[in-house]
Amino acid sequence: MNANRPPGERAVLAAVPKQLLIGGEWRDGAGGETLCVEDPASGEEIARVADAAPQDALDALGAAHAAWRGDWRVSAPRERSDILRRAYEAVVDRTDELALLMTLEMGKPLAESAAEVAYAASFLRWYAEEAVRTDGRVATHESGAGRVLTLKQPVGPCVLITPWNFPLAMGARKIGPAVAAGCTMLVKPARLTPLSMLMLARILEEAGLPGGVLNVVTASSSGSVMEPVIRDPRTRKLSFTGSTEVGRRLIEQSAEQVLRVSMELGGNAPFVVFDDADVDDAVEGAVLAKMRNIGEACTAANRFHVARPIAREFADKLAARMSAMKLGPGTEDGVEVGPLIDAEQLDKVSELVDDAVAKGARVLCGGERVDGPGHFYVPTVLVGVPPAARLLREEIFGPVAPIMAFGSEDEAIAAANDTQFGLVAYLYTADLKRALRVSERLETGMVGVNQGIVSNAGAPFGGVKQSGIGREGGPEGIEEYLETKYVALALD
Ligand code: NAP
Repeated sequence: MNANRPPGERAVLAAVPKQLLIGGEWRDGAGGETLCVEDPASGEEIARVADAAPQDALDALGAAHAAWRGDWRVSAPRERSDILRRAYEAVVDRTDELALLMTLEMGKPLAESAAEVAYAASFLRWYAEEAVRTDGRVATHESGAGRVLTLKQPVGPCVLITPWNFPLAMGARKIGPAVAAGCTMLVKPARLTPLSMLMLARILEEAGLPGGVLNVVTASSSGSVMEPVIRDPRTRKLSFTGSTEVGRRLIEQSAEQVLRVSMELGGNAPFVVFDDADVDDAVEGAVLAKMRNIGEACTAANRFHVARPIAREFADKLAARMSAMKLGPGTEDGVEVGPLIDAEQLDKVSELVDDAVAKGARVLCGGERVDGPGHFYVPTVLVGVPPAARLLREEIFGPVAPIMAFGSEDEAIAAANDTQFGLVAYLYTADLKRALRVSERLETGMVGVNQGIVSNAGAPFGGVKQSGIGREGGPEGIEEYLETKYVALALD
């Protein structure tokens, strides 16, 4: 395996721990099985990691519970802060190595992987800073005779489940606040991209995180491995990032122990361009909102609603920009569009485009997959997309931009809100009053105004409707890992 790869790639792959991390020990799965990790640009196997059995996950939960019952929950906030700070510095120092690893297992271009490494690191830094500021408050009882004390305490052992599309940042966005709050955890990364998480675990270990606080389990049968731990009374919280379909199932499982849940689920982001917007700016924002991560982002613009007078100009300019983007393996210089994650995702994107075209959409550019190895789809712009097209309702998760024209502001808002999802919306306008008015009426957890990206460690990321429950990032993000205890203090 990997004999024909450049020495740099071989070294990065060899450095990753390939076992489960349980109670501070790296060990094989109970059944001795392994699972294969592939390079989506070629379909070649690049690593094998331990494939956990249900008992391994229960052992990992046991280790998290023991660490929780030990010293960790009462550890000094400054100690937790220092560990996160050291991990932040190590991640930044090792950007090139982590970025290459991410590109090899997930496919995104190297520059985007490096941007994700910086994004992941920013959560470690942010929560290193928050760890020492999780205070409650003191208030006077309204009678004057007593005091109300509120204490912030860690929730307890957490189960954290992450997706393949942002293999490092989605983990750091959960681990950072969980460590800062004094929680312990079992992390399960996606089976398609476990390597970045295993490397992050090694870095946190080297930064001084005590054994048992962070346990990592990689598995090919996530349902059967994770269900027993979600239903186990030692678990106190589940934080999940992934599809709405799986999230819904996990909420049901969480009901058994009445777990605290955070759910970062799917999206169907509208990108609305009003006729007073700067069209060139809007096109640049659209490229970012659509093409970041090869379109495989929950925040990806899924539908473009453009004011009728500028719709044609916007579509032509977007098609010119998207068709000029260089497609290829993410490790190659100058590549802007990497492969989709797997054959299934490629089939899905292809099917959605074919469905829209069969129903009357017109292809301005792209509209086809690339023959040969890897899972490549050509950047695509569609116009005149009919309301019945499936890609207006479903998450595309690929480099496809469907454009529709609208008349009035009310019509644009109604179209934008016509979805069960509510993660993020983008709007472009030169009118500040309109920006605020429309932002307030959009049924989403986040709005990007004249910008095609909203991700920021200091801001609350999350959705409404079927896009999720809870927020990650900012001061809100650590609250998800804290309980508020009220102590009633009599003075007389
Ligand atoms: P997914 O299929 O829901 O998987 C997400 C994670 O859940 C993976 O680790 C997966 O493991 C695991 N999983 C799957 N079935 C499970 C089960 N029955 N029990 C326990 N764990 C289970 O989603 P994905 O395809 O990896 O990621 C894409 C989705 O994530 C999109 O819908 C995207 O919008 C969403 N997402 C949301 C956000 C956000 O912040 N809102 C951010 C990024 C992505 P396996 O790998 O073994 O299947």
